[in-house]
Amino acid sequence: MIKKLKVQSSKLKILCFIFLLFTVHCSLFTVSACSPQKEKIYRKSKALMDTLITISAVSGSGDKAEKAIDRAFSEIEKLDSLLNFFSDNSELSEINRNAGLKAVAVSPETFEVIEKAIYASGKTSGAFDITIGSVTTLWDFHKRVKPEDKQIKERLPLVNYKNVILNKKSSSVYLKKRGMLIDLGGIAKGYAADKAVEALKREGIKSGLVAVSGEIKAFGLKPDSKPWKIGIRNPRAKNKEDEIMATIEMTGMAISTSGDYERYFIIEGKRYHHILNPKTGYPSDGCRSVSIIAKDGSVTDSFSTGIFVLGAEKGIKLLEEMGIDGIIIGKNGKIHTTPNLREKLEIIRDSQRQKSTD
Ligand code: ADP
Ligand code: MG
Repeated sequence: MIKKLKVQSSKLKILCFIFLLFTVHCSLFTVSACSPQKEKIYRKSKALMDTLITISAVSGSGDKAEKAIDRAFSEIEKLDSLLNFFSDNSELSEINRNAGLKAVAVSPETFEVIEKAIYASGKTSGAFDITIGSVTTLWDFHKRVKPEDKQIKERLPLVNYKNVILNKKSSSVYLKKRGMLIDLGGIAKGYAADKAVEALKREGIKSGLVAVSGEIKAFGLKPDSKPWKIGIRNPRAKNKEDEIMATIEMTGMAISTSGDYERYFIIEGKRYHHILNPKTGYPSDGCRSVSIIAKDGSVTDSFSTGIFVLGAEKGIKLLEEMGIDGIIIGKNGKIHTTPNLREKLEIIRDSQRQKSTD
């Protein structure tokens, strides 16, 4: 099983790379302009964590920027080696192999990301659940593999975040049931964006942007003294002109988008995509896309996935309770936003007026 997934993962890397080159999930509108202090935006991209990562740093010195960006990439490489679901050598695989057997002592980063994931599960009443791993492995969205209903039902008892036992003292993780699998695909990239930004700041960078696929975190101002401008993708884009439905200017914040258009196939008019409802094991039809804006990338990543499953109504209610901003494109294309966000968003195109294709 793991071997098969490895092959898919390398294919995914290439797909993501092409995808990001031509149609960016959350597009970045950045210009490498010079300010009076001759500050510039320096930028580097790398394929890591099964996706394309771009790190930008504003600096008056190319050497300083490069050193900082390399440090930030080292941080992400370290996380990739700890949290990779497909690598036998990762700490995550060690936890999964020992499910139902014993607790596994892990590094502070692995412990922290799992702790943050469990927090998101509690807040979303289990709509976000990293123990979805035993079910995600049944689906293959590239090869259009839809598991049998029976297979899904057999695995559902293995999905329950309450069966993840964390011990802070020993920094250990124990999965209570044999066969349980943690899949951090819904949180690891946002957490990596947080860690990369911390690394840039430690290197003295005052402004920058980290984009781990669609998980984006920005801080400081661009050399033209303006905040970073991020585009939110239209989940039913039909062509290039149609691609961005809204933009938002931000700094000191992260934004993540989860959408049903990223990894999917359609059978008999029904869309099957990679965000699964932990209660059913099937793709959630709660929304078309969810974008969340908050301080931490680990929060925006996990809550964009969880709120996608909760649906627009419950999702907006939860965001308001938590004081977090979000924009949700409901299953019929209706745009829902938290009140705070309305004046900050520039809506370019209202997807509600578009005819649904499925
Ligand atoms: P992407 O990884 O494309 O940015 P998301 O952040 O929405 O998209 O995460 C989707 C990934 O999270 C899936 O590929 C899978 O690995 C995992 N996942 C799917 N459904 C859930 C869920 N309900 N809770 C937690 N993780 C999930
Ligand atoms: Mg996510």
